[in-house]
Amino acid sequence: GVSAFEDVPGAAEVPVYAVMAAFSKDPSPVKLNLVFGVYRAEDGKPHVLNVVRRAERLLIENMSANKEYLPIAGLAEFNKLSAKLVFGADSPAITENRVTTVQCVSGCGSLRIGAEFLAKHYHQHIVYLPQPTYGNHPNFFLAAGHTLKTYRYYDPTTHGLDFQGLLEDLSCASSGAIVLLQACGHNPTGVDPTFEQWEQIRQLIRLKGLLPFFDCAYQGFVSGNLDMDAQSIRIFVADGGECLVAQSYSKIMGIYAERVGALSIVCKTADVASRVNSQLKLVIRPMHSSPPIHGAAIVATILKDREMVTEWTVELKAMVDRIIKLRQQLYDALHDRGTPGDWSHITRQVGLYTFSGLNEEQVALMMKEYHIYMSSDGRINVAGLSEKVVPYLAGAIHAAVTCM
Ligand code: PLP
Repeated sequence: GVSAFEDVPGAAEVPVYAVMAAFSKDPSPVKLNLVFGVYRAEDGKPHVLNVVRRAERLLIENMSANKEYLPIAGLAEFNKLSAKLVFGADSPAITENRVTTVQCVSGCGSLRIGAEFLAKHYHQHIVYLPQPTYGNHPNFFLAAGHTLKTYRYYDPTTHGLDFQGLLEDLSCASSGAIVLLQACGHNPTGVDPTFEQWEQIRQLIRLKGLLPFFDCAYQGFVSGNLDMDAQSIRIFVADGGECLVAQSYSKIMGIYAERVGALSIVCKTADVASRVNSQLKLVIRPMHSSPPIHGAAIVATILKDREMVTEWTVELKAMVDRIIKLRQQLYDALHDRGTPGDWSHITRQVGLYTFSGLNEEQVALMMKEYHIYMSSDGRINVAGLSEKVVPYLAGAIHAAVTCM
């Protein structure tokens, strides 16, 4: 008989996964993968941190550990440590019990749970996203029934922040609207506001009564300093106001596939926080019911041990330094070739990515002629480079820019 699913239309593959598939099929020995936001070592291979390996060994040797279900909100110790990591160990919001934190399925799951909670328990369902932003951001909020709007963020002429546009657009937002902010290492642009600009953004958001929802996927990955990279969030928490924070450990601990993250909601009072926590559990229950334990246990093992935290931050700093060095090498290579255009944004931009300014046709040409794969918006994963391949990339960019 006819399939029950006969009328299911085929969907297009998610664009970055389509590029990945094309990369896998490409037989060229010089092919270069700069698509996904993952850190690679200088040899181009996936990188597992020593401190993570060490934590895993400790977990395996711990004979009193078991694999029974976690509570709906996840590993309590992990939640506490995650809140301390992002808000600071002596944050008044934590000591006053105004923060509720639930373990979620990485950054994505934290954003999704946050979006669902807001759809059910918050009066305003308009969400402002930066233009451009992480490609999955719209999905979390659309799936929860919110209405999307954008605020200006990136200025293609300066390859920097369109601060005036950002302020104008948020000034026009209706009262109570949700504003998604990337805490640091903005994906895909590599452009972050300065601390002074954050302070102005905070004032505007508080003045207009908007609700900030921070996506924090790169804490420590920008400056190498965990406190510095959380500063944007901390100034919002310091004013006593409310916000949501979605944390991801994928990039900062290199545990992408473990899917470890947390959603924190900072409230005005401990009583509100406790009621919010009770409702978060009702949101989670029909979604994943309770989160997986292994990745959260890795993170908790590291974060509760001062010496392991130090080891982690040293490894984090080494990753950041390698990225910064590669930015300089790529800039120098283009500069030395006399490639038309000002490429100084490559070293100005921060975090894992550079938003190269290459257009869709140039990206397509580099894929076809040079087997270099990046997202169609021209975003380059800097950590996918090495000293050895920088000249090849620079040559390809030069060709793409001069012939189109
Ligand atoms: N938020 C931003 C800004 C990201 O760049 C990413 C991953 O690329 C995520 C969230 C999702 O992270 P996770 O893999 O932890 O779900």
